[in-house]
Amino acid sequence: MTQPRLLPLYAAMPVTIFEEMSGLARQTGAINLGQGFPDGPPPPALLEALGRASATQSHQYPPMAGLPELRAAVAAFYARTQGLDLPPDSVIVTSGATEAVAAAILAVVQPGDEVLLFAPAYDAYAPLVRRAGGVPVFVALHPPLWQYDRAAIEAAITPRTRALVLNDPLNPTGTVASAADLAMLADICTACDLFAICDEVWENVRFDGQAHASLMAQPGMETRALKIGSAGKIFGATGWKVGWIVAAPPIAAVVGRAHQFLTFTTPPMLQRAVAEALARPDIAQDCTAGWAQTRQCLNEALTRRGFALLPGSATWFACIDLPASGIALDDRSFALRGVHEAGVATIPLSALWDGGGAPTHIARLCHCKPEAMLTQAVDRLAQWRDRLDAGE
Ligand code: GLN
Repeated sequence: MTQPRLLPLYAAMPVTIFEEMSGLARQTGAINLGQGFPDGPPPPALLEALGRASATQSHQYPPMAGLPELRAAVAAFYARTQGLDLPPDSVIVTSGATEAVAAAILAVVQPGDEVLLFAPAYDAYAPLVRRAGGVPVFVALHPPLWQYDRAAIEAAITPRTRALVLNDPLNPTGTVASAADLAMLADICTACDLFAICDEVWENVRFDGQAHASLMAQPGMETRALKIGSAGKIFGATGWKVGWIVAAPPIAAVVGRAHQFLTFTTPPMLQRAVAEALARPDIAQDCTAGWAQTRQCLNEALTRRGFALLPGSATWFACIDLPASGIALDDRSFALRGVHEAGVATIPLSALWDGGGAPTHIARLCHCKPEAMLTQAVDRLAQWRDRLDAGE
């Protein structure tokens, strides 16, 4: 009996590290500081808006590009928080930011195109580029600052380069591109005629007191940037899978063609609730203020117990340097053994690194959890480190 062949790209692909580690945490009962999601419900005001929307609004297909009120609310949110001047038809609502990344790549990448990715990179980018027939070309960033190096970027660009993907703030490192970086990247995009797929899902999860600045706001970028955002990240409701992509209307229209055959629409009551919440600055601000506290709690606990933190000022994550923390395991062993032996799930940074030369000495820990859970997790990791030291 023969079997038709499945697509090798997916057939040979492991399940994502986020699913792997959350699955292990569920199986073992470990504290899950792996996949990024807050422990507990989203803000009551968001749930109240959802209740109202659910009781009063249609539950049937909303417009393909998103509810008009959410498209307008996203445009108004970016006008208010980032000074962007976007007409509502520049917004396409998607079922989460990962769908937005997929739609952007499908809309932009043609077979044979090269797409510049920075490593570390969110693990969806490279497979999506490959599935679109493109070739990911990696530019490695280097710890501890993960800075963008103009010469390295220019060396990776060829006449076939169509786009770059910029994740800013950057997951997993929590670092943020400087104003000079953004100007340099815009300069390269305009000089080399590139699209920029800007995954800015962490734009509201910054702890450096700075307003987020988008690559889209740089001169010449308004017709090249495809900017992606996430209500799940802004409001701590990751399971809602409400995201969006904003681009100049002619680009957004083409992204909409990709989106219409991916998920087509996103649940209207969720869209309606997000639209209401985006219009109230206090809701998002309170979320970020709460995460500033959980971040401080985790970072202080880690430092107190002798774990070496890497610098970072955004996202729900802290990164630790394993050898500098007295741990002689690579990141994947730390994550896999840590679930069983310490009862704590983490994410190995190398899982977010496609291409060669991955650093294997850094682990990512999620901080948006109750403080008692964070201190218990750090205690467990410290005690496990002592047992490893004792050769047990
Ligand atoms: N963005 C999340 C993280 O980095 C994972 C999202 C997912 O698992 N799809 O942890």
